[in-house]
Amino acid sequence: MEYVSTRGQSEAVSFTQAVAAGLAPDGGLYLPRELPDLSGKLAEWEGLDYPALCYEFLKVFATDMDESVLRRLVDDSYTRFTDPKIAPLVALSDDLYVLELFHGPTLAFKDFALQLVGNLYEEQIRESGEHINVLGATSGDTGSAAIHGLLGKDGVNIFILYPDGRISPLQERQMTTTGAANVFPIAISGSFDDAQLIVKELFGNLDLKRQYRLSAINSINLARILAQCVYYFYAYFQLPPERREAVEFIVPTGNFGNILAGWLAKRMGLPAASFRVATNQNDILYRLFTTGQYQVDEVVPSLAPSMDIQVASNFERFLYYLEGRDPAKVREVMSAFKDNGRHSFEQFDPDVFTASHTTDAGIREIIADVYKKYNYVVDPHTACGFVERDPAKTAVVLSTAHPAKFPDTITEAIGVESTSPALEELKSKEIVKHLLPADIDAVRAFIEEHAQL
Ligand SMILES: *Cc1c(COP(=O)(O)O)cnc(C)c1O
Repeated sequence: MEYVSTRGQSEAVSFTQAVAAGLAPDGGLYLPRELPDLSGKLAEWEGLDYPALCYEFLKVFATDMDESVLRRLVDDSYTRFTDPKIAPLVALSDDLYVLELFHGPTLAFKDFALQLVGNLYEEQIRESGEHINVLGATSGDTGSAAIHGLLGKDGVNIFILYPDGRISPLQERQMTTTGAANVFPIAISGSFDDAQLIVKELFGNLDLKRQYRLSAINSINLARILAQCVYYFYAYFQLPPERREAVEFIVPTGNFGNILAGWLAKRMGLPAASFRVATNQNDILYRLFTTGQYQVDEVVPSLAPSMDIQVASNFERFLYYLEGRDPAKVREVMSAFKDNGRHSFEQFDPDVFTASHTTDAGIREIIADVYKKYNYVVDPHTACGFVERDPAKTAVVLSTAHPAKFPDTITEAIGVESTSPALEELKSKEIVKHLLPADIDAVRAFIEEHAQL
């Protein structure tokens, strides 16, 4: 199978090439040239356990990988999940279900993709003999999920910058207590924007990038999207047959990666009816899907920080289909987004997407309501998925993080403490972090000293 760029000015590549590259050279994102029709496989796939289903699905796409290697990497990627089902579907009522995606090592859904991406990277390093250094900035979940995807792997070091004192203590512990020699958490005395700017400038130094084979971790990698398609099928198979008629997947959304995976799954044959884009108060996507107007705004920090985005990096993949798979039109719209921070779609077809948004006050109320009604605790991101349900549909809310990651918000909302053994264990572990000034030269010198060559 071949992968093409949404912007149409790069050559088609294989699966492994697309995974290694991340972004296409023309700045676009990779998609399969043609989406396969998998509807004929559903009967065969029903009843498979998670790793088996994941392997059957990915094998359709990773056509340049040895099947036994793929099977080994997939199996290994889901060994650190604590629930035997990996992604259990929990019934709150007859027509309301929660797909729990927080049983991985960092208790957020990003583990589903980043555990696998870490293994794919390690395999590529083993085959090419070329070491890499992964560099990124984080304000929370992505950095820790990337670290846990790569810790202890051969041939790769990972450097994650974050603003010292400005991420949650638990998130800092997830990054700084791994004890792994290839992990370098760098606490910058500055803001998240400072950290992000330093990373951006370091990637802009092409000599440095080449010499140390710097690699980014970002939400646009093809493998992340494909890995996330799997749990939509898996959720569907866990629904009772009489509840499968009209299913709406409700997805707490930031960069549009998670929900896009579901929508692609539908295009490939998953019998879902619709997808709800559930945003927090940073609701650029809510406005787009309800009005056809794209308008960038200031980010206002919310109780659901992993959804605090200004632009949704994966939206470009939907845009490609929206514009009839015409890369010239994609380039035109993306450049309007970039130059003006706004764009009016004349005929915006939301397709099977619906949308909702939730304020911080709404998040607190929902956490309390859901607890009262169902005796179930949702985290602040997942809470955004509990507004405005369509009574004619079976709702499957994707739960993207474990509530214990956000103890203050939970305690405030319901007066009950949420805990998890994995997080409790972190509290007694030693923190190892590297304090650096918000200065590009200091960070570069640190990387040069600790990079794998
Ligand atoms: C990353 C994240 C999201 C947003 O997912 P996207 O794929 O960026 O839309 C939602 N909730 C949590 C907990 C996250 O970590």
